[in-house]
Amino acid sequence: MRQSKLFTKTKKEAPSDEVSKNAELLIRGGFIHKEMAGVYSYLPLGLRVIKKIENIIREEMNAIGGQEVVLSSLQEKETWEPTDQWDDEKVDVWFKTKLKSGTELGLAVTHEAAMTKIAKNFLNSYRDLPFSIYQFQTKFRNEIRAKSGIMRCREFEMKDLYSFCKDEEEHNEFYEKSKVAYQKIFQRAGIGHLTYFTFASGGMFSKFSHEFQTITGAGEDTIYVDEDKSIAVNKEVYNDEVISSLGLDKEKLVEKRAVEVGNIFTLGTRFSDALDLTYQTEKGEKKSVFMGSYGIGPGRLMGTVVEVLSDDKGIIWPETIAPFKVHLLSLGDDENIKKEADHVYDALISKNIEVLFDDRSGVSPGEKFADADLLGIPYRIVVSSRSMKENGVEIKKRNEEKGKVVSLEELLTLLTA
Ligand code: ATP
Ligand code: MG
Repeated sequence: MRQSKLFTKTKKEAPSDEVSKNAELLIRGGFIHKEMAGVYSYLPLGLRVIKKIENIIREEMNAIGGQEVVLSSLQEKETWEPTDQWDDEKVDVWFKTKLKSGTELGLAVTHEAAMTKIAKNFLNSYRDLPFSIYQFQTKFRNEIRAKSGIMRCREFEMKDLYSFCKDEEEHNEFYEKSKVAYQKIFQRAGIGHLTYFTFASGGMFSKFSHEFQTITGAGEDTIYVDEDKSIAVNKEVYNDEVISSLGLDKEKLVEKRAVEVGNIFTLGTRFSDALDLTYQTEKGEKKSVFMGSYGIGPGRLMGTVVEVLSDDKGIIWPETIAPFKVHLLSLGDDENIKKEADHVYDALISKNIEVLFDDRSGVSPGEKFADADLLGIPYRIVVSSRSMKENGVEIKKRNEEKGKVVSLEELLTLLTA
């Protein structure tokens, strides 16, 4: 991708009403566009990041047997009533709308009930179980607070997976697998070292639900962390009884601000009972399906990465989710330099390396460096009169102070290793 052709441009300042660091950096970099508080659009650079996050999640969900679907956002009232979710008193974040005929519809806040209804269409016998279905889909929530940039939106993408099992035992087996899959996702996205498996409030069917909480001052939650055991307890369930039941030592728990990047939840038979999702057991008896739900917000994950992996100059993307692997900068408007930079660009492309090529004319080296720091692409490669004198190109990682000059051949080896 040639930066001269990229329709977005970097900005010196974010909108004055933007208070969150993630949104400020992402808007300045041209990754996202702010439509209004809590509503953001994704532009080419931001979409590349989101797609990479989605792919990591997709691979891990497929690895535990998840089957991908996409449900509609428009959902009829009848879907929500049996589980008492239509009532504004029970679910206070609804965006509701109407057909011309007056029939009420909701813009889905979540999809447990809708998924349960779909599963009902195909499920008969114990032989059909277990299975799990997931999607990347837009949720609408009229959140009261929307000051955390893309970490808390009123319209946002969620990966939600729902598991359908014969009984609690089969469910627990899947639940454990999902926990490991989630840990892999956050590890691969570059925030594993800051993310804790956290005990949180459960529901009817299990004492706890489990959240994956990433330590950041930008988070809205308070958790108590046991560093050695690498687990945490959410403030909402933090008390002496819980601490001792988890075998934790109160003295060792440290209070931290954190953001929930994902959660896994035992639903039990709450939805299957209400919507009559049953199957025939081996003995021919009718039994309710035992369910679980598993959520991650790719946008919230992206925002969290920006919050925890950035410096005063800009973002520092982990290679796995960076919009490009390499940011190639051509410095100066000398024809020879331009020719050499073009040559390096072609060589990188021929090796299938993802490159953003800052080929813009009339932009000073200082501006190009500042943009590279803001955009946060992992490897910065510079072609300049200096690098040409040394018969090579300069390579520097985003998080390194100084670069080094290497030959083109060395560069390609380094980047394809
Ligand atoms: P929170 O307590 O932060 O509001 P939640 O309990 O409502 O989260 P779920 O409904 O379980 O979260 O959603 C699953 C995942 O979707 C969350 O773990 C989070 O990653 C993401 N998510 C939830 N709400 C939002 C939002 N308003 N904007 C962006 N992502 C969100
Ligand atoms: Mg919420």
